Amino acid sequence: MRTYDYIVVGAGSAGAVVANRLSADARDKVLLLEAGPASHPWARIPIGYAKLLNNPAANWLYTSEPEANTNGRQLPVPRGRLLGGSSSLNGMAFVRGQAQDFDTWAQMGNQGWSYADVLPMFKRMESYAGGDDEFRGREGPLRVTNPEPRDPLYAALIKAAGEVGIAHNPDYNGASQDGIAMSQATIASGRRMSTARCYLEPIRERRNLHIETGALTEAVVLEGKRCTGVRYSIGGNAFEARATREVVMSAGTINSPQLLELSGIGQPERLRDLGIEVRHALPGVGENLRDHYAPRTRWAIGAKGITFNDRGRGLGLVWQALRYATSGRGMLGMVAAPIRAFVRSREGLSAPDVLLGWVPMLTEPGPKGPKISRQSGVTCYAHPMRPESKGHIHIVSADPRKAPAINFNFLSSPIDAEITARAVRIARSVMTAPAMAPMRVSEIAPGVARNTDDEILEWVKQAAETTYHPVGTCKMGSDAMAVVDAQLRVHGIEGLRVADASIMPTLTSGNTNAPSIMIGEKAADMVLRGRDC
Ligand SMILES: Cc1cc2nc3c(=O)[nH]c(=O)nc-3n(C[C@H](O)[C@H](O)[C@H](O)COP(=O)(O)OP(=O)(O)OC[C@H]3O[C@@H](n4cnc5c(N)ncnc54)[C@H](O)[C@@H]3O)c2cc1C
Repeated sequence: MRTYDYIVVGAGSAGAVVANRLSADARDKVLLLEAGPASHPWARIPIGYAKLLNNPAANWLYTSEPEANTNGRQLPVPRGRLLGGSSSLNGMAFVRGQAQDFDTWAQMGNQGWSYADVLPMFKRMESYAGGDDEFRGREGPLRVTNPEPRDPLYAALIKAAGEVGIAHNPDYNGASQDGIAMSQATIASGRRMSTARCYLEPIRERRNLHIETGALTEAVVLEGKRCTGVRYSIGGNAFEARATREVVMSAGTINSPQLLELSGIGQPERLRDLGIEVRHALPGVGENLRDHYAPRTRWAIGAKGITFNDRGRGLGLVWQALRYATSGRGMLGMVAAPIRAFVRSREGLSAPDVLLGWVPMLTEPGPKGPKISRQSGVTCYAHPMRPESKGHIHIVSADPRKAPAINFNFLSSPIDAEITARAVRIARSVMTAPAMAPMRVSEIAPGVARNTDDEILEWVKQAAETTYHPVGTCKMGSDAMAVVDAQLRVHGIEGLRVADASIMPTLTSGNTNAPSIMIGEKAADMVLRGRDC
Protein backbone atom coordinates (compact mmCIF):
# COMPACT_ATOMS: atom_id res chain seq x y z
CA MET A 1 0.00 0.00 0.00
CA ARG A 2 1.34 3.46 -0.90
CA THR A 3 1.52 6.14 1.75
CA TYR A 4 1.12 9.89 1.21
CA ASP A 5 0.89 12.93 3.44
CA TYR A 6 -2.34 14.01 1.76
CA ILE A 7 -4.87 12.37 -0.51
CA VAL A 8 -7.22 14.56 -2.56
CA VAL A 9 -10.27 12.85 -4.07
CA GLY A 10 -11.49 14.53 -7.27
CA ALA A 11 -9.49 16.86 -9.52
CA GLY A 12 -12.26 19.39 -10.23
CA SER A 13 -12.61 23.12 -9.70
CA ALA A 14 -11.69 22.81 -6.02
CA GLY A 15 -9.68 19.57 -5.92
CA ALA A 16 -7.10 20.62 -8.53
CA VAL A 17 -6.47 23.79 -6.51
CA VAL A 18 -6.09 21.85 -3.26
CA ALA A 19 -3.64 19.41 -4.89
CA ASN A 20 -1.60 22.27 -6.36
CA ARG A 21 -1.28 24.17 -3.08
CA LEU A 22 -0.65 21.09 -0.90
CA SER A 23 2.14 19.88 -3.17
CA ALA A 24 3.91 23.27 -3.28
CA ASP A 25 6.31 22.08 -0.59
CA ALA A 26 8.35 19.29 -2.17
CA ARG A 27 8.57 17.49 1.18
CA ASP A 28 4.83 16.76 1.18
CA LYS A 29 3.69 13.76 -0.83
CA VAL A 30 0.26 14.19 -2.37
CA LEU A 31 -1.99 11.74 -4.22
CA LEU A 32 -4.72 13.21 -6.45
CA LEU A 33 -7.35 10.68 -7.53
CA GLU A 34 -9.61 11.44 -10.49
CA ALA A 35 -12.25 9.05 -11.79
CA GLY A 36 -12.17 10.44 -15.32
CA PRO A 37 -9.45 10.77 -17.96
CA ALA A 38 -6.66 13.36 -18.11
CA SER A 39 -8.36 15.36 -20.83
CA HIS A 40 -10.72 15.46 -23.79
CA PRO A 41 -10.07 17.29 -27.08
CA TRP A 42 -13.28 19.33 -26.72
CA ALA A 43 -12.28 20.50 -23.23
CA ARG A 44 -9.71 22.93 -24.65
CA ILE A 45 -11.98 24.86 -27.01
CA PRO A 46 -14.78 27.01 -25.57
CA ILE A 47 -17.41 25.74 -28.05
CA GLY A 48 -16.54 22.23 -26.82
CA TYR A 49 -19.01 23.06 -24.03
CA ALA A 50 -21.87 22.00 -26.32
CA LYS A 51 -20.00 18.83 -27.35
CA LEU A 52 -19.37 17.67 -23.78
CA LEU A 53 -22.84 18.26 -22.35
CA ASN A 54 -24.00 14.79 -23.43
CA ASN A 55 -20.63 13.07 -23.73
CA PRO A 56 -20.02 10.03 -21.49
CA ALA A 57 -16.25 10.23 -22.13
CA ALA A 58 -15.98 13.29 -19.87
CA ASN A 59 -19.33 13.67 -18.12
CA TRP A 60 -21.06 11.73 -15.34
CA LEU A 61 -24.38 12.41 -17.10
CA TYR A 62 -26.57 12.23 -14.02
CA THR A 63 -30.29 12.90 -14.15
CA SER A 64 -32.63 14.08 -11.43
CA GLU A 65 -35.66 12.15 -10.19
CA PRO A 66 -39.07 13.16 -11.56
CA GLU A 67 -40.78 15.75 -9.35
CA ALA A 68 -44.02 17.73 -9.30
CA ASN A 69 -42.57 21.10 -10.27
CA THR A 70 -40.69 19.70 -13.24
CA ASN A 71 -43.96 18.17 -14.43
CA GLY A 72 -42.45 14.76 -13.81
CA ARG A 73 -39.47 15.46 -16.10
CA GLN A 74 -36.02 14.13 -15.21
CA LEU A 75 -33.56 16.95 -15.70
CA PRO A 76 -30.02 16.49 -17.00
CA VAL A 77 -27.37 16.95 -14.29
CA PRO A 78 -24.08 17.10 -16.22
CA ARG A 79 -20.85 16.98 -14.15
CA GLY A 80 -17.29 16.98 -15.41
CA ARG A 81 -15.51 13.63 -15.20
CA LEU A 82 -11.94 14.46 -16.18
CA LEU A 83 -9.06 16.53 -14.82
CA GLY A 84 -10.49 19.96 -14.07
CA GLY A 85 -13.88 18.39 -13.28
CA SER A 86 -16.79 20.63 -14.18
CA SER A 87 -14.40 23.53 -14.89
CA SER A 88 -13.36 21.49 -17.97
CA LEU A 89 -16.87 21.46 -19.45
CA ASN A 90 -18.72 24.39 -17.90
CA GLY A 91 -20.01 27.55 -19.58
CA MET A 92 -16.88 29.51 -18.48
CA ALA A 93 -18.76 32.49 -16.99
CA PHE A 94 -16.73 33.92 -14.13
CA VAL A 95 -18.94 35.21 -11.32
CA ARG A 96 -17.83 35.44 -7.70
CA GLY A 97 -21.18 36.25 -6.10
CA GLN A 98 -22.02 39.10 -3.76
CA ALA A 99 -20.22 40.23 -0.62
CA GLN A 100 -23.40 39.46 1.29
CA ASP A 101 -23.33 35.77 0.22
CA PHE A 102 -20.14 35.22 2.18
CA ASP A 103 -21.12 37.56 5.01
CA THR A 104 -24.24 35.40 5.38
CA TRP A 105 -22.08 32.27 5.68
CA ALA A 106 -20.07 34.01 8.42
CA GLN A 107 -23.24 35.16 10.18
CA MET A 108 -24.40 31.53 10.19
CA GLY A 109 -21.43 30.89 12.49
CA ASN A 110 -18.78 30.03 9.91
CA GLN A 111 -15.86 32.03 11.16
CA GLY A 112 -13.34 32.93 8.47
CA TRP A 113 -15.84 32.98 5.56
CA SER A 114 -16.96 36.63 5.50
CA TYR A 115 -16.38 38.60 2.30
CA ALA A 116 -13.38 40.29 3.90
CA ASP A 117 -11.98 36.81 4.63
CA VAL A 118 -12.55 35.32 1.18
CA LEU A 119 -11.63 38.38 -0.94
CA PRO A 120 -7.87 37.67 -0.65
CA MET A 121 -8.53 34.15 -1.99
CA PHE A 122 -10.54 35.48 -4.93
CA LYS A 123 -7.70 37.91 -5.67
CA ARG A 124 -4.88 35.43 -5.40
CA MET A 125 -6.54 32.86 -7.68
CA GLU A 126 -7.08 35.11 -10.70
CA SER A 127 -5.23 37.08 -13.29
CA TYR A 128 -7.58 39.75 -14.70
CA ALA A 129 -6.66 42.96 -16.49
CA GLY A 130 -9.76 45.10 -15.70
CA GLY A 131 -11.46 46.41 -12.58
CA ASP A 132 -10.08 47.94 -9.43
CA ASP A 133 -6.97 46.65 -7.61
CA GLU A 134 -8.93 46.68 -4.37
CA PHE A 135 -11.07 43.83 -5.68
CA ARG A 136 -9.20 42.19 -8.55
CA GLY A 137 -6.16 39.94 -8.72
CA ARG A 138 -3.45 40.35 -11.35
CA GLU A 139 -1.07 37.46 -10.88
CA GLY A 140 -3.07 34.35 -10.03
CA PRO A 141 -2.99 31.11 -12.02
CA LEU A 142 -6.55 31.43 -13.40
CA ARG A 143 -6.80 33.72 -16.43
CA VAL A 144 -10.06 35.67 -16.62
CA THR A 145 -10.96 37.89 -19.60
CA ASN A 146 -13.84 39.90 -21.07
CA PRO A 147 -15.58 38.79 -24.29
CA GLU A 148 -15.78 41.01 -27.36
CA PRO A 149 -18.24 43.78 -26.61
CA ARG A 150 -18.48 45.09 -30.20
CA ASP A 151 -21.69 43.44 -31.28
CA PRO A 152 -24.96 45.19 -32.20
CA LEU A 153 -27.02 42.76 -30.12
CA TYR A 154 -25.03 43.37 -26.94
CA ALA A 155 -25.08 47.14 -27.49
CA ALA A 156 -28.86 47.02 -27.93
CA LEU A 157 -29.32 44.90 -24.80
CA ILE A 158 -27.22 47.26 -22.68
CA LYS A 159 -29.24 50.22 -23.97
CA ALA A 160 -32.56 48.39 -23.48
CA ALA A 161 -31.62 47.44 -19.93
CA GLY A 162 -30.82 51.08 -19.24
CA GLU A 163 -34.29 52.01 -20.50
CA VAL A 164 -35.89 49.79 -17.85
CA GLY A 165 -33.62 51.00 -15.04
CA ILE A 166 -30.80 48.43 -15.17
CA ALA A 167 -27.52 50.34 -15.37
CA HIS A 168 -24.34 49.19 -17.09
CA ASN A 169 -21.76 47.81 -14.63
CA PRO A 170 -18.37 47.09 -16.19
CA ASP A 171 -17.19 44.90 -13.28
CA TYR A 172 -19.81 42.84 -11.47
CA ASN A 173 -16.97 41.10 -9.58
CA GLY A 174 -15.88 44.45 -8.15
CA ALA A 175 -17.45 46.83 -5.65
CA SER A 176 -21.03 45.98 -6.59
CA GLN A 177 -22.77 43.27 -8.60
CA ASP A 178 -25.76 45.38 -9.73
CA GLY A 179 -26.43 45.94 -13.39
CA ILE A 180 -25.89 44.59 -16.89
CA ALA A 181 -22.44 43.61 -18.10
CA MET A 182 -20.48 41.56 -20.57
CA SER A 183 -19.72 38.22 -18.89
CA GLN A 184 -16.21 37.76 -17.60
CA ALA A 185 -14.89 34.41 -18.70
CA THR A 186 -12.33 31.74 -17.88
CA ILE A 187 -11.09 31.94 -21.47
CA ALA A 188 -7.76 33.26 -22.67
CA SER A 189 -6.24 33.25 -26.17
CA GLY A 190 -9.29 31.34 -27.36
CA ARG A 191 -8.70 28.50 -24.89
CA ARG A 192 -10.76 27.31 -21.92
CA MET A 193 -9.05 28.07 -18.62
CA SER A 194 -10.03 25.08 -16.50
CA THR A 195 -8.34 24.26 -13.21
CA ALA A 196 -6.63 21.38 -15.06
CA ARG A 197 -5.11 23.93 -17.44
CA CYS A 198 -4.30 26.61 -14.83
CA TYR A 199 -3.51 24.66 -11.65
CA LEU A 200 -2.29 21.22 -12.80
CA GLU A 201 -0.56 21.65 -16.18
CA PRO A 202 1.98 24.19 -14.86
CA ILE A 203 3.09 21.79 -12.08
CA ARG A 204 3.40 18.63 -14.18
CA GLU A 205 7.04 18.33 -13.14
CA ARG A 206 6.40 18.06 -9.39
CA ARG A 207 7.62 14.65 -8.34
CA ASN A 208 5.81 14.80 -5.00
CA LEU A 209 2.37 15.05 -6.67
CA HIS A 210 1.05 11.77 -8.01
CA ILE A 211 -2.02 12.22 -10.23
CA GLU A 212 -3.93 9.02 -10.84
CA THR A 213 -6.62 9.28 -13.55
CA GLY A 214 -9.28 6.65 -14.26
CA ALA A 215 -9.22 6.02 -10.50
CA LEU A 216 -12.68 5.67 -8.97
CA THR A 217 -12.57 6.28 -5.23
CA GLU A 218 -15.04 3.88 -3.61
CA ALA A 219 -14.85 4.83 0.07
CA VAL A 220 -12.63 6.40 2.68
CA VAL A 221 -10.89 4.08 5.16
CA LEU A 222 -11.80 4.66 8.79
CA GLU A 223 -9.98 3.41 11.87
CA GLY A 224 -12.48 4.18 14.59
CA LYS A 225 -13.32 7.84 14.05
CA ARG A 226 -10.12 8.64 12.16
CA CYS A 227 -9.83 8.65 8.38
CA THR A 228 -6.57 6.99 7.39
CA GLY A 229 -6.87 6.64 3.63
CA VAL A 230 -9.04 5.70 0.68
CA ARG A 231 -10.05 2.63 -1.31
CA TYR A 232 -10.19 3.06 -5.06
CA SER A 233 -10.25 1.04 -8.25
CA ILE A 234 -8.60 1.41 -11.63
CA GLY A 235 -10.00 -0.69 -14.46
CA GLY A 236 -11.68 -3.00 -11.96
CA ASN A 237 -8.52 -3.54 -9.88
CA ALA A 238 -8.77 -2.58 -6.21
CA PHE A 239 -6.20 -0.36 -4.47
CA GLU A 240 -5.81 1.28 -1.10
CA ALA A 241 -3.71 4.32 -0.26
CA ARG A 242 -2.84 5.69 3.15
CA ALA A 243 -2.78 9.34 4.22
CA THR A 244 -0.61 10.13 7.23
CA ARG A 245 -2.08 13.62 7.60
CA GLU A 246 -5.42 14.10 5.85
CA VAL A 247 -7.83 13.08 3.14
CA VAL A 248 -9.53 15.97 1.33
CA MET A 249 -12.75 15.02 -0.42
CA SER A 250 -13.33 17.24 -3.48
CA ALA A 251 -15.61 14.98 -5.50
CA GLY A 252 -18.30 17.66 -5.95
CA THR A 253 -21.88 18.15 -4.79
CA ILE A 254 -23.13 14.82 -6.17
CA ASN A 255 -20.20 12.54 -5.37
CA SER A 256 -18.86 13.87 -2.05
CA PRO A 257 -22.04 12.93 -0.14
CA GLN A 258 -22.20 9.69 -2.14
CA LEU A 259 -18.68 8.78 -0.97
CA LEU A 260 -19.40 9.69 2.64
CA GLU A 261 -22.48 7.45 2.59
CA LEU A 262 -20.58 4.61 0.92
CA SER A 263 -18.05 4.97 3.75
CA GLY A 264 -20.73 4.58 6.43
CA ILE A 265 -21.06 8.30 7.27
CA GLY A 266 -24.62 9.60 6.99
CA GLN A 267 -28.19 8.88 8.04
CA PRO A 268 -28.05 5.57 9.95
CA GLU A 269 -31.35 4.10 8.79
CA ARG A 270 -30.70 4.86 5.16
CA LEU A 271 -27.25 3.23 5.35
CA ARG A 272 -28.51 0.16 7.24
CA ASP A 273 -31.28 -0.35 4.65
CA LEU A 274 -28.55 -0.67 2.02
CA GLY A 275 -26.46 -3.04 4.14
CA ILE A 276 -23.77 -0.46 4.85
CA GLU A 277 -22.19 -0.53 8.30
CA VAL A 278 -22.82 2.77 10.10
CA ARG A 279 -19.44 4.19 11.09
CA HIS A 280 -20.63 7.65 12.03
CA ALA A 281 -24.16 9.10 12.19
CA LEU A 282 -24.35 12.44 10.39
CA PRO A 283 -27.93 13.28 9.34
CA GLY A 284 -27.03 16.23 7.11
CA VAL A 285 -25.05 14.20 4.55
CA GLY A 286 -26.77 14.62 1.16
CA GLU A 287 -29.34 17.14 2.43
CA ASN A 288 -29.58 20.90 1.72
CA LEU A 289 -29.23 20.47 -2.07
CA ARG A 290 -29.79 23.77 -3.87
CA ASP A 291 -29.57 24.72 -7.53
CA HIS A 292 -30.73 27.40 -9.94
CA TYR A 293 -33.97 26.34 -11.64
CA ALA A 294 -33.92 28.51 -14.71
CA PRO A 295 -36.55 28.99 -17.37
CA ARG A 296 -35.10 29.85 -20.78
CA THR A 297 -37.22 32.55 -22.39
CA ARG A 298 -36.95 32.40 -26.20
CA TRP A 299 -37.14 35.30 -28.64
CA ALA A 300 -37.24 35.39 -32.44
CA ILE A 301 -35.04 38.07 -34.01
CA GLY A 302 -36.27 39.39 -37.36
CA ALA A 303 -33.25 41.60 -38.17
CA LYS A 304 -30.76 39.72 -40.35
CA GLY A 305 -27.18 38.78 -39.47
CA ILE A 306 -27.54 39.47 -35.73
CA THR A 307 -27.60 36.08 -34.05
CA PHE A 308 -25.43 33.00 -34.34
CA ASN A 309 -28.37 31.21 -35.96
CA ASP A 310 -27.66 33.49 -38.92
CA ARG A 311 -23.91 33.78 -38.50
CA GLY A 312 -22.94 30.30 -37.30
CA ARG A 313 -24.51 27.93 -39.83
CA GLY A 314 -23.42 26.86 -43.33
CA LEU A 315 -20.83 29.25 -44.79
CA GLY A 316 -21.15 31.35 -41.62
CA LEU A 317 -19.78 28.44 -39.62
CA VAL A 318 -16.82 28.13 -42.00
CA TRP A 319 -16.11 31.83 -41.45
CA GLN A 320 -16.46 31.37 -37.67
CA ALA A 321 -14.02 28.44 -37.77
CA LEU A 322 -11.50 30.49 -39.78
CA ARG A 323 -11.89 33.41 -37.43
CA TYR A 324 -11.34 31.19 -34.42
CA ALA A 325 -8.31 29.52 -36.02
CA THR A 326 -6.67 32.87 -36.77
CA SER A 327 -7.66 34.95 -33.71
CA GLY A 328 -9.25 32.61 -31.13
CA ARG A 329 -12.37 34.80 -31.34
CA GLY A 330 -15.97 34.54 -32.52
CA MET A 331 -18.58 31.92 -31.81
CA LEU A 332 -16.17 29.02 -31.27
CA GLY A 333 -14.29 30.94 -28.60
CA MET A 334 -17.38 32.27 -26.84
CA VAL A 335 -18.47 32.04 -23.20
CA ALA A 336 -21.87 30.27 -22.95
CA ALA A 337 -23.86 33.44 -22.09
CA PRO A 338 -21.81 36.47 -23.13
CA ILE A 339 -23.99 39.10 -21.48
CA ARG A 340 -25.77 39.03 -18.13
CA ALA A 341 -27.65 41.23 -15.70
CA PHE A 342 -27.95 41.11 -11.92
CA VAL A 343 -31.21 42.77 -10.98
CA ARG A 344 -33.63 43.32 -8.11
CA SER A 345 -37.03 41.72 -8.48
CA ARG A 346 -38.64 44.46 -6.39
CA GLU A 347 -37.89 47.69 -4.57
CA GLY A 348 -36.40 47.67 -1.10
CA LEU A 349 -33.93 44.83 -1.62
CA SER A 350 -30.37 45.47 -0.45
CA ALA A 351 -28.86 43.57 -3.40
CA PRO A 352 -29.88 41.93 -6.70
CA ASP A 353 -31.81 38.67 -6.34
CA VAL A 354 -32.33 37.74 -10.01
CA LEU A 355 -29.92 36.75 -12.77
CA LEU A 356 -30.64 37.17 -16.48
CA GLY A 357 -28.21 35.62 -18.95
CA TRP A 358 -28.45 36.02 -22.74
CA VAL A 359 -27.26 33.54 -25.33
CA PRO A 360 -27.16 35.02 -28.86
CA MET A 361 -28.89 32.05 -30.47
CA LEU A 362 -31.72 29.57 -30.27
CA THR A 363 -30.78 25.94 -29.83
CA GLU A 364 -32.72 22.72 -29.81
CA PRO A 365 -31.89 19.33 -28.35
CA GLY A 366 -29.92 17.03 -30.66
CA PRO A 367 -28.73 13.44 -30.18
CA LYS A 368 -25.21 14.64 -29.27
CA GLY A 369 -26.16 17.74 -27.28
CA PRO A 370 -27.80 21.05 -28.14
CA LYS A 371 -27.77 21.98 -31.82
CA ILE A 372 -28.22 25.38 -33.36
CA SER A 373 -31.76 26.04 -34.65
CA ARG A 374 -32.64 27.22 -38.16
CA GLN A 375 -34.76 29.99 -36.68
CA SER A 376 -32.85 33.13 -35.71
CA GLY A 377 -33.27 34.24 -32.13
CA VAL A 378 -32.01 34.85 -28.63
CA THR A 379 -32.37 32.80 -25.45
CA CYS A 380 -32.57 34.59 -22.12
CA TYR A 381 -32.56 32.59 -18.91
CA ALA A 382 -34.01 34.27 -15.86
CA HIS A 383 -34.02 32.94 -12.31
CA PRO A 384 -33.76 33.70 -8.59
CA MET A 385 -30.12 33.66 -7.49
CA ARG A 386 -30.55 32.53 -3.88
CA PRO A 387 -33.31 29.92 -3.96
CA GLU A 388 -34.68 28.67 -0.67
CA SER A 389 -36.02 25.34 -1.98
CA LYS A 390 -33.90 22.46 -0.75
CA GLY A 391 -33.63 18.91 -2.00
CA HIS A 392 -31.34 15.96 -1.33
CA ILE A 393 -28.98 13.45 -2.90
CA HIS A 394 -28.65 9.93 -1.51
CA ILE A 395 -27.20 6.65 -2.62
CA VAL A 396 -29.64 3.93 -3.62
CA SER A 397 -27.08 1.13 -3.66
CA ALA A 398 -23.87 0.13 -1.90
CA ASP A 399 -22.28 -0.13 -5.36
CA PRO A 400 -20.07 2.96 -5.96
CA ARG A 401 -20.79 2.72 -9.71
CA LYS A 402 -24.53 3.28 -9.24
CA ALA A 403 -25.70 6.87 -9.58
CA PRO A 404 -27.25 8.39 -6.47
CA ALA A 405 -30.84 9.67 -6.55
CA ILE A 406 -31.04 13.44 -7.01
CA ASN A 407 -34.19 15.21 -5.78
CA PHE A 408 -34.13 18.98 -6.21
CA ASN A 409 -37.56 19.76 -4.80
CA PHE A 410 -37.66 22.83 -7.05
CA LEU A 411 -40.11 25.65 -6.24
CA SER A 412 -41.09 23.97 -2.97
CA SER A 413 -40.51 27.32 -1.34
CA PRO A 414 -43.26 29.76 -2.47
CA ILE A 415 -40.82 32.70 -2.58
CA ASP A 416 -38.80 30.92 -5.30
CA ALA A 417 -41.91 30.58 -7.45
CA GLU A 418 -42.80 34.23 -6.93
CA ILE A 419 -39.30 35.48 -7.86
CA THR A 420 -39.12 33.15 -10.87
CA ALA A 421 -42.29 34.68 -12.30
CA ARG A 422 -40.90 38.17 -11.66
CA ALA A 423 -37.60 37.20 -13.33
CA VAL A 424 -39.45 36.16 -16.49
CA ARG A 425 -41.26 39.50 -16.50
CA ILE A 426 -37.98 41.40 -16.13
CA ALA A 427 -36.56 39.48 -19.12
CA ARG A 428 -39.67 40.51 -21.06
CA SER A 429 -39.27 44.15 -20.09
CA VAL A 430 -35.68 44.27 -21.42
CA MET A 431 -36.47 42.37 -24.61
CA THR A 432 -39.40 44.67 -25.43
CA ALA A 433 -37.72 47.96 -24.47
CA PRO A 434 -37.49 50.57 -27.28
CA ALA A 435 -33.77 49.96 -27.91
CA MET A 436 -34.57 46.40 -29.02
CA ALA A 437 -37.03 47.55 -31.73
CA PRO A 438 -34.42 47.50 -34.56
CA MET A 439 -33.84 43.81 -33.78
CA ARG A 440 -37.51 43.07 -34.61
CA VAL A 441 -38.05 40.92 -31.53
CA SER A 442 -41.03 38.65 -30.97
CA GLU A 443 -41.64 36.39 -28.03
CA ILE A 444 -41.64 32.62 -28.62
CA ALA A 445 -41.63 31.34 -25.02
CA PRO A 446 -43.27 31.59 -22.59
CA GLY A 447 -45.45 33.32 -25.22
CA VAL A 448 -47.47 36.51 -25.00
CA ALA A 449 -50.61 34.63 -23.93
CA ARG A 450 -48.98 33.68 -20.62
CA ASN A 451 -49.39 36.63 -18.34
CA THR A 452 -50.41 35.74 -14.81
CA ASP A 453 -47.97 34.20 -12.34
CA ASP A 454 -49.84 30.90 -12.62
CA GLU A 455 -49.61 30.87 -16.41
CA ILE A 456 -45.89 31.69 -16.35
CA LEU A 457 -45.19 29.09 -13.67
CA GLU A 458 -47.13 26.44 -15.57
CA TRP A 459 -44.69 26.99 -18.45
CA VAL A 460 -41.70 27.05 -16.08
CA LYS A 461 -42.68 23.61 -14.80
CA GLN A 462 -42.86 22.29 -18.37
CA ALA A 463 -39.68 23.88 -19.65
CA ALA A 464 -37.15 25.03 -17.02
CA GLU A 465 -33.83 23.32 -16.49
CA THR A 466 -31.04 23.95 -14.06
CA THR A 467 -28.03 26.12 -14.82
CA TYR A 468 -25.88 23.29 -13.41
CA HIS A 469 -25.03 24.85 -10.06
CA PRO A 470 -25.85 22.19 -7.44
CA VAL A 471 -24.36 22.98 -4.04
CA GLY A 472 -24.83 22.37 -0.34
CA THR A 473 -24.98 18.59 0.23
CA CYS A 474 -22.11 18.58 2.75
CA LYS A 475 -23.12 21.85 4.33
CA MET A 476 -20.65 23.84 6.42
CA GLY A 477 -21.94 24.90 9.83
CA SER A 478 -22.42 23.97 13.45
CA ASP A 479 -26.11 23.01 13.53
CA ALA A 480 -27.39 19.43 13.65
CA MET A 481 -27.59 19.19 9.85
CA ALA A 482 -24.09 20.51 9.19
CA VAL A 483 -21.61 18.04 7.72
CA VAL A 484 -18.37 20.02 8.04
CA ASP A 485 -17.23 22.73 10.42
CA ALA A 486 -15.87 26.14 9.38
CA GLN A 487 -12.45 24.50 8.87
CA LEU A 488 -14.17 22.06 6.47
CA ARG A 489 -13.47 19.10 8.80
CA VAL A 490 -16.17 16.43 8.76
CA HIS A 491 -17.95 16.66 12.12
CA GLY A 492 -16.92 13.82 14.38
CA ILE A 493 -14.23 12.38 12.07
CA GLU A 494 -10.54 13.18 12.27
CA GLY A 495 -8.32 13.51 9.23
CA LEU A 496 -11.14 14.11 6.72
CA ARG A 497 -12.22 17.38 5.13
CA VAL A 498 -14.61 18.19 2.31
CA ALA A 499 -13.59 21.01 -0.04
CA ASP A 500 -15.87 21.63 -3.03
CA ALA A 501 -19.23 23.20 -3.91
CA SER A 502 -21.01 20.79 -1.56
CA ILE A 503 -19.87 22.73 1.52
CA MET A 504 -21.75 25.93 0.55
CA PRO A 505 -24.51 26.41 3.13
CA THR A 506 -26.45 28.59 0.65
CA LEU A 507 -26.13 29.22 -3.08
CA THR A 508 -23.96 32.14 -4.08
CA SER A 509 -25.53 34.87 -6.23
CA GLY A 510 -24.56 33.61 -9.66
CA ASN A 511 -22.46 30.85 -11.13
CA THR A 512 -20.49 28.54 -8.89
CA ASN A 513 -17.10 27.85 -10.49
CA ALA A 514 -15.33 30.90 -9.03
CA PRO A 515 -16.60 30.23 -5.48
CA SER A 516 -15.64 26.54 -5.80
CA ILE A 517 -12.09 27.50 -6.77
CA MET A 518 -12.02 29.96 -3.86
CA ILE A 519 -13.10 27.11 -1.55
CA GLY A 520 -10.17 25.05 -2.86
CA GLU A 521 -7.77 27.91 -2.12
CA LYS A 522 -9.16 28.39 1.36
CA ALA A 523 -9.22 24.69 2.16
CA ALA A 524 -5.55 24.37 1.21
CA ASP A 525 -4.66 27.23 3.56
CA MET A 526 -6.60 25.58 6.38
CA VAL A 527 -4.91 22.21 5.84
CA LEU A 528 -1.46 23.79 5.72
CA ARG A 529 -2.14 25.88 8.82
CA GLY A 530 -3.20 22.70 10.61
CA ARG A 531 0.10 21.08 9.62
CA ASP A 532 2.13 23.89 11.15
CA CYS A 533 0.29 23.72 14.49
C1 LIG B 1 -22.50 22.06 -17.95
C2 LIG B 1 -22.08 22.97 -16.84
C3 LIG B 1 -22.02 24.34 -17.07
C4 LIG B 1 -21.62 25.20 -16.04
N1 LIG B 1 -21.40 26.52 -16.33
C5 LIG B 1 -20.82 27.31 -15.40
C6 LIG B 1 -20.37 28.62 -15.73
O1 LIG B 1 -20.49 29.09 -16.86
N2 LIG B 1 -19.78 29.36 -14.74
C7 LIG B 1 -19.62 28.87 -13.48
O2 LIG B 1 -19.12 29.61 -12.62
N3 LIG B 1 -20.04 27.64 -13.14
C8 LIG B 1 -20.58 26.84 -14.08
N4 LIG B 1 -20.91 25.55 -13.76
C9 LIG B 1 -20.76 25.10 -12.37
C10 LIG B 1 -19.32 24.90 -11.94
O3 LIG B 1 -18.52 24.42 -13.00
C11 LIG B 1 -19.30 23.96 -10.75
O4 LIG B 1 -20.06 24.51 -9.69
C12 LIG B 1 -17.90 23.71 -10.20
O5 LIG B 1 -17.07 23.24 -11.23
C13 LIG B 1 -17.97 22.69 -9.06
O6 LIG B 1 -16.68 22.42 -8.60
P1 LIG B 1 -16.41 21.19 -7.63
O7 LIG B 1 -14.97 21.22 -7.33
O8 LIG B 1 -17.38 21.22 -6.52
O9 LIG B 1 -16.78 19.88 -8.47
P2 LIG B 1 -16.25 19.37 -9.88
O10 LIG B 1 -15.52 20.44 -10.61
O11 LIG B 1 -17.42 18.75 -10.56
O12 LIG B 1 -15.16 18.29 -9.50
C14 LIG B 1 -15.42 17.04 -8.93
C15 LIG B 1 -14.37 16.08 -9.46
O13 LIG B 1 -14.38 14.90 -8.68
C16 LIG B 1 -14.30 13.78 -9.54
N5 LIG B 1 -14.91 12.65 -8.85
C17 LIG B 1 -16.20 12.51 -8.46
N6 LIG B 1 -16.39 11.33 -7.86
C18 LIG B 1 -15.20 10.71 -7.83
C19 LIG B 1 -14.77 9.46 -7.34
N7 LIG B 1 -15.62 8.61 -6.74
N8 LIG B 1 -13.46 9.12 -7.48
C20 LIG B 1 -12.59 9.98 -8.07
N9 LIG B 1 -12.96 11.18 -8.60
C21 LIG B 1 -14.25 11.54 -8.46
C22 LIG B 1 -15.09 14.22 -10.77
O14 LIG B 1 -14.82 13.41 -11.89
C23 LIG B 1 -14.63 15.66 -10.90
O15 LIG B 1 -13.44 15.76 -11.66
C24 LIG B 1 -21.32 24.68 -14.76
C25 LIG B 1 -21.39 23.29 -14.53
C26 LIG B 1 -21.75 22.45 -15.55
C27 LIG B 1 -21.78 20.96 -15.30
